[in-house]
Amino acid sequence: MFRTPAEKHSVLIFHGLGPPQRKLEPGEAPFWLGRDPFCALLDRIARMGADAPQITFDDGNASDIEIALPELAARGLSAAFFLLVGRLDHPGSLSQADVKALAEAGQTIGLHGHAHRDWRRLDPEGRQQEFREARRRLADLSGQPITLAAAPFGLYDRQVTKTLIAEGFEALYTSDWGRASGRRFLRPRNCIDATMDDRALSAALDGHVRLTRQPRRLLGLARKRLLPGGPAA
Ligand SMILES: [Zn+2]
Repeated sequence: MFRTPAEKHSVLIFHGLGPPQRKLEPGEAPFWLGRDPFCALLDRIARMGADAPQITFDDGNASDIEIALPELAARGLSAAFFLLVGRLDHPGSLSQADVKALAEAGQTIGLHGHAHRDWRRLDPEGRQQEFREARRRLADLSGQPITLAAAPFGLYDRQVTKTLIAEGFEALYTSDWGRASGRRFLRPRNCIDATMDDRALSAALDGHVRLTRQPRRLLGLARKRLLPGGPAA
């Protein structure tokens, strides 16, 4: 089962794998990874032992079950899959039955919401749909309690965090880079994309924030964590 250790640890985000089978969102293409680079990275992770980063997938693409699941299983690895309820059964995305199959294979199901929208901009009806209804649906389909959430596009603010805590979530996985601790509600992740060279991949596996990224990261974190409703990213 996917459980972030108390000691700080890198957590990776993957999106789609292989050729996309649906129309991509604007700017999404670089986040798709070929099967070969994905497998090479998994081999590397499998050799890292106790230092291995945790693995997560966002968006519920069909490649979660077609490529990720068998390749993880072949290496004895497990992951958390953050799913979008509004996309289930759509072409190129997971089906409802796939959610059950992932859970039965020992993978963890988490919430990415309903419609892939900015959680900072939700009205009460939106919060009901994105947090409560989507969560209930994933729990019903997977047979697992849904306690982990990942914010679409990595966008959150203090209000989003407060709401998820009030709803009883255990953690919010973000896209803020760095290392995550199982003791903290906010857990930064390191996003893998197809443009990364070996140095960038090594930094992500280690949860090391590269110097060029640091000033922007710190400013972004301060906005997201301190301001009541952070400005648009
Ligand atoms: Zn997403």
